[in-house]
Order: sequence, then C-alpha cells, then structure tokens
Amino acid sequence: MKKSEFSPNGNTVENLIRQTLAKHAAPVMIIRRSILIRQYKRFRQYLPQVTPYYAIKANPHPDVIKTFVRLGSHFDVASAQEMNLVLGLGAPPQKIIFANTIKSVPDLQMAARKRVSLMTFDNEPELYKIARHAPASRVLVRIKVENIGSVVELSLKFGADPEQAVFLLRKAKALGLQPEGVSFHVGSQCTQIQNYVQALEVTAAVFREAKEEGLTLSILDIGGGFPIRHFDHENHATFETLARTVRTELTRLFDKKTRVIAEPGRFLVGPGGILVTQVIGRTFRNNKNYYYLNDGVYGDFSGIVFDHCKYELKTLRRGQKFLSTVAGPTCDSFDTISLSEELPELDVGSVVYVKNIGAYSSASAVQNFNGFAPAKIVLTD
Ligand SMILES: *Cc1c(COP(=O)(O)O)cnc(C)c1O
Repeated sequence: MKKSEFSPNGNTVENLIRQTLAKHAAPVMIIRRSILIRQYKRFRQYLPQVTPYYAIKANPHPDVIKTFVRLGSHFDVASAQEMNLVLGLGAPPQKIIFANTIKSVPDLQMAARKRVSLMTFDNEPELYKIARHAPASRVLVRIKVENIGSVVELSLKFGADPEQAVFLLRKAKALGLQPEGVSFHVGSQCTQIQNYVQALEVTAAVFREAKEEGLTLSILDIGGGFPIRHFDHENHATFETLARTVRTELTRLFDKKTRVIAEPGRFLVGPGGILVTQVIGRTFRNNKNYYYLNDGVYGDFSGIVFDHCKYELKTLRRGQKFLSTVAGPTCDSFDTISLSEELPELDVGSVVYVKNIGAYSSASAVQNFNGFAPAKIVLTD
C-alpha cells in the first residue's frame, strides 16, 4: 500500500482501518463492540417498555452473540442450529423466542428438549405439528401487516390474516398449547412510521376481539425492522422518531400489563460493522475506471442481493472523483458491486471500505465460491 494511505491525519474510522490492516490482511470485517453496546442501550433507552430479542440471523458471529448475552439480551432464533448456538453461548432458554412460523419436526423436538417454549406460528397445520412435537408450548400468532416502503418485504411470505388470528389462538388452546399473544414484522429497514402505527392498531383489535371471546393475551411482539443509516447523508425517519411514536401508540392502545417484546436485528448490529477491502486489479473500459476488490457479491456484499441493500463505498484517498465501476473478485459478471460510483483514482492495494455493514453481510456470504473466502471477522472495542 502507498504511504499516503497511512497518513496520520484522518478520522477515527480511518485510523481504526489503518491499525487493523497493520495486523490483518484485507478483506476484514471489523465489528466494534462499543457500537453494539451503544445500539443496545439506545434501544433500551428509547423503548424502555420493550424487551429486545436480538434476531441473530443479522449476524450470528459468536462474539457478537456473547456481547448481547453479557448485556442481558433476549434472542430470536429461526432454526434448531441457531437455538443451539445461542444456548451454547450462555443464553437461557427462557430468553429465547423461536420466531420462524414454519418449523421442521426435528427442530420442534429440539425446542421441546431444550425447553425453548415461546414460538410464533401463522397457520393451522403448524399448530398440529407444535402440539404433537413441542406440547404445551406458548404461542404467538404472527399476523400479516403492511410492509409499504420497507426495503425487505416480509408479508409476502409470512403472516395470517388478522381476521383469522383469534380463531387460530383458540385452536391453539384447544390443542393444549398456551396462546399468549400476537406478533408482526413491518418489513426490514422500515422507515415508514405508519407501518408500525397501523400494525399496532390491527394488533390491538385482535387483543380486544380475543378478550371478548374469553382469551386474555399477555404478549405483544412488535418484531424487527428498526432502520439504520447506510449512507452518511440519508434523510429518513430516525429510530428515535419512530420509537417516540411507537411508545405513544403502545400507551394508547394496550393495557399496561401487556408484555411488549421486539426482534431487532439490523438495528443492533448494522452500525457496528466496517468492511475493509482492497483493490486487487484495475482497468479502464467502457470509458470508466474499473476496480476489482478482494470481496464481492458472493462475500460480504451479499446484502446487495439478499438484503436489497445499497452501500456507501469510501476510500482513504482524497482528490478528484471519476465515474467508476466496482466489482468483486470472482469470474462472474453478476459479481458487480456498483456500476456508477464516484471515486478518486485508486491503485492496486488501495483501500475501499463500507461503514454500517454489520447486518446481513457476512451472515449470508458464500464460504468459498471460486476459491474466495469472505472477509475475516475481527472484533474490536
Ligand atoms: C429477520 C427477522 C427479524 C429481524 O429484522 P430486522 O429488520 O433486521 O430488525 C426479526 N424477526 C423475524 C421474524 C425476522 O425474520
């Protein structure tokens, strides 16, 4: 690397990147514990009446999970493997929700064996399965709610019609299960506060209807979706604004005794991750600079595909910017990170990094396509 990229002037993040590259070869995914802790505390501070269950699919790295175990967090898991991972790292079964509405028989048997008794469902066949393989489980019916404007739509695949909710909860009771409440997910990276407001109103109606039918519900699960800033200059509703509205609506619509839980993923880990890559090749074609990085769409940029995410590519270089294409290292032209980035002139060895990329990045990276491993994950304070 050129000396100029190690100049002492620069911000904290750039200094952290320089220090990390002195010890580890790129690509590196730096996860800052202090940011995970800050995000967890921010969640607790702005939604004090809501218990967070960290959705580990966003980033299941053991050190990330351990950080949240130490903070006393609860956890959202979607499979027996995720369940065993968090149990093995010290989370007690009472702090886990099995929040996949479709669970395989062996996974349900594992839940029963490990005493993970809280789970979601959204259909009748699932109830028969739960009653048989994890009897007496405590269940939350997941309802379908509007996902308008959220970056990742989840209601296309999950959620019962709200009109069916009470019927399903009564069915659960008839099968010997414990119907305890309702859950929803407004879609990931939800910046439309209205999605939460509507979902809470629909859920409150389900609570009222259940009560009229002699079923008192005690748990409200508001899911995940809490947004983060992927770009420095982004102007959507902040978590704080959203949290204020959610707080007001919770007080307005629900009994004080209702236990409110949430399943944040992206919000807790996204801001904690910095991906550091290097240019491994460059050319000039189609009238543009082409830079090839040592990480790409099959690796830690997998969020471009699976999370529909866009990232802000940054460099340690200053100077005039030119229209550039940035691609990953594999022999697949689909492995293209951006066709139109404004970047300064870069050389082989130059650093390209991305902030706020801790969620849905390394988690969905392919292990060794074309012989390229994803970034090494390095936890720092
Ligand atoms: C993915 C997922 C989450 C986490 O969503 P975020 O948008 O990352 O907060 C929570 N709950 C369920 C059921 C999920 O599938």
